[in-house]
Amino acid sequence: MGNDKMNKPAMPDEAPVMEPQRQFYYIERAKELVSERAKKCGHPLTFHVETFGCQMNARDSEKLRGILDTIGFVPVDTENADFVIYNTCTVRENANNKVYGRLGTLSSYKKKNPNMMIALCGCMMQEQHVVEKLRMSYRFVNLVFGTHNIFKFAELIVHAMTSDEMVIDIWDETSQIVEDLPVERKYHFKSGVNIMFGCNNFCSYCIVPYVRGRERSREPKDIIREIEHLVADGVVEVMLLGQNVNSYGKNLDHPITFAQLLREIEKIEGLKRIRFMTSHPKDLSDELIEVMAASDKICKHMHLPLQSGSSRILKEMNRHYDKEQYLLLVDKLRKAIPDIAITTDIIVGFPGETKEDALETLDVVRKVRYDSAFTFIYSKRSGTPAAKMENQVPEDEVKENFDMILKEVQSIACEKAMELEGKILPVLVEQINEQDDTLVTGRLSNNSVVHLNGDASMIGTIVNVELTECKGFYYLGRVPEEVL
Ligand code: SF4
Repeated sequence: MGNDKMNKPAMPDEAPVMEPQRQFYYIERAKELVSERAKKCGHPLTFHVETFGCQMNARDSEKLRGILDTIGFVPVDTENADFVIYNTCTVRENANNKVYGRLGTLSSYKKKNPNMMIALCGCMMQEQHVVEKLRMSYRFVNLVFGTHNIFKFAELIVHAMTSDEMVIDIWDETSQIVEDLPVERKYHFKSGVNIMFGCNNFCSYCIVPYVRGRERSREPKDIIREIEHLVADGVVEVMLLGQNVNSYGKNLDHPITFAQLLREIEKIEGLKRIRFMTSHPKDLSDELIEVMAASDKICKHMHLPLQSGSSRILKEMNRHYDKEQYLLLVDKLRKAIPDIAITTDIIVGFPGETKEDALETLDVVRKVRYDSAFTFIYSKRSGTPAAKMENQVPEDEVKENFDMILKEVQSIACEKAMELEGKILPVLVEQINEQDDTLVTGRLSNNSVVHLNGDASMIGTIVNVELTECKGFYYLGRVPEEVL
């Protein structure tokens, strides 16, 4: 159990100690409080969850919605609701400022609806100075909690609904993983599945290890059970989530590797597609490449963050691999899975980066020929070692290198996308096209987007589609006559 700082309201607590029973107890308590308040207000209480940041946060928000749904709140699309929760991100400094700005709007809603409750959770709340600022200057916020105790949401709602003070519950870390709590997933046919939490890598530019804690893996049997339930509930594709999925299983009493976990997940009847992110090159094993190559279900896509092509900068970033090792990995991947799509993350302008370093990155981009890449300009993040590094690179130099690399990434990605034009490939149909409702939109195994004629009855199904036209980063397609 993490050490916790909390304004404990003076209320007897006959709740069970063990989890998840304790939370089930509080879910019942919360249900009573919500229905009482709804009666008083004369309408069902509404809620809105706003998610900032990564897929890990998106998955956590599905857990927040699951609890709020279960205790009787009704979801709405507006922040002018009875309960609003921001699930925050803190990867970039300016992410925090955005949240403070939006809290201003919420306080104006609360002036008109004094019963409104405002909660904040996620990575930003793991920073002590943020909590102090909220305590001092945002007293209208009812509840603040962090990344380690999201499972306690129902219990915290009860405390917040029965207290006039701001309830703050931030844990520095935890080894606890609580299973089987309600989840409200966004898509009926696909779902994110956490396999592990936290990160031990401490890349020198990254705040994640400080706000998400040490790596802890879920038990394989719990992951398998969750996926079996999801498949029974109509899911055909899962995205296995972790800051660094390749180091899955190391802290388990009976350690297994990520590749071994994939082999077990592969056996689940009815599951059609398996995706995973994020992979760290330093832990990408030959065993994992073998399992991917032999699999019918693991999608032909590997997101393998490079960050920099310069071995000198990679050392400064504390990435634990160099340029040659990275290129060797890509070689192995391509030999074993020739049609694999490889995507990446690249940071331009890391402290001390020279033109030569940027040209090294360009060289890797040309050698690997990525299907796509998220290219970022380095953003100083206080609380990370890199933020204290002297030799911050002048903006114009960074811009020049950024444009040079982005141009190459985009032209290669276009060339690569063209290679699939005319092919017939399986597409998981995900939704009605947002611009044209005579079209549906889906994804190839390599994660590329395809728009094709269709209707809502196709959503959640995998159909063979002829890619009639490549539009740079997406395709137009049609279901071939012979398939209809
Ligand atoms: S692997 Fe590095 S970049 Fe990724 S979350 Fe961990 S510390 Fe951050």
